[in-house]
Amino acid sequence: MSLLVTGTIGIDTVETPTGRAERVLGGSCAYFAAAASFHAPVRVVAAVGGDWPKEHRAILQRFKNVDLSGLEVRPGSKTFAWGGKYFDNMNDRESLFTHLGVVEENPPRIPSEYKDSQWIFLANTHPSVQLQLLQHFPNRKFAVADTMDLWIKIARDELLQLLKHVDGVVLNYSEAEQLTGVRNAVTACKKILDFGPTFAVNKKGEHGAILVHREGVATMPAYPAELHQVVDPTGAGDSFAGGMMGYLASLGRVDFQALQTSLAWGTVTASFTIESFGLDRLAQISRADIDGRMRLFQAAARV
Ligand code: AMP
Repeated sequence: MSLLVTGTIGIDTVETPTGRAERVLGGSCAYFAAAASFHAPVRVVAAVGGDWPKEHRAILQRFKNVDLSGLEVRPGSKTFAWGGKYFDNMNDRESLFTHLGVVEENPPRIPSEYKDSQWIFLANTHPSVQLQLLQHFPNRKFAVADTMDLWIKIARDELLQLLKHVDGVVLNYSEAEQLTGVRNAVTACKKILDFGPTFAVNKKGEHGAILVHREGVATMPAYPAELHQVVDPTGAGDSFAGGMMGYLASLGRVDFQALQTSLAWGTVTASFTIESFGLDRLAQISRADIDGRMRLFQAAARV
């Protein structure tokens, strides 16, 4: 059940209506790996620059199931850095800056002992980097990709190329609309399946998520968080994907029913991420906390 993630390890500066965090650990890969590690061991393939803070490594090392031997440090380069600002509804945000740094260089090196990885998550980064990395795993069992508005805008052709090679894609409501021109989550995802994947997950923030699969459609509500529990939504999408993929890798199945259940683990895992800036909250909790919240969620979401 070797799960591997590639993506960004970033330095984030985030503003919300109630607070601000300067240069905290972030990046798609960091959130995914931390979240997935509650469910299965996870291998990280990413690059950072010589400016990457030591404290950020220390935070990632607190997640016992995260293997950092594929984390490449490039002393002469700059770490990916991102700034974002949330609007009053805490759901929508704008990017204030994106300094690509190492993301503009060659993809990170993949350690030879990682080549047997079966479960691959291509967290958000340039789609041509995602595609190049994917080609190192010809014997993979299951590959899923994430993406973002920036790449849909500036690297659409590369993204469409990538979609021919993955089993699934996770993206949010506005990205699905941007990619397909369709304003309905289910119809947009069905259109995305025409590009190649077997399934697409459309994340709708506080309105939950929808799975569109060749074998059916499933819906999952969001965890009913209260106002004071939502400190910073950054990384919720990556943590959702981490909970989902970690669960699937631990189960060893990828059928429609397993995917449907994985949406619930993604939801519950991500519900902790939003309770702090950066990875602070995830670093405080244990698997027992996730299981406890899953029981509350099951009771709340019962039909
Ligand atoms: P999420 O809130 O799940 O969409 O993830 C936010 C994380 O994605 C932040 O920690 C950012 O560092 C990272 N991020 C922001 N923009 C990009 C981008 N263009 N490519 C890759 N990662 C990004």
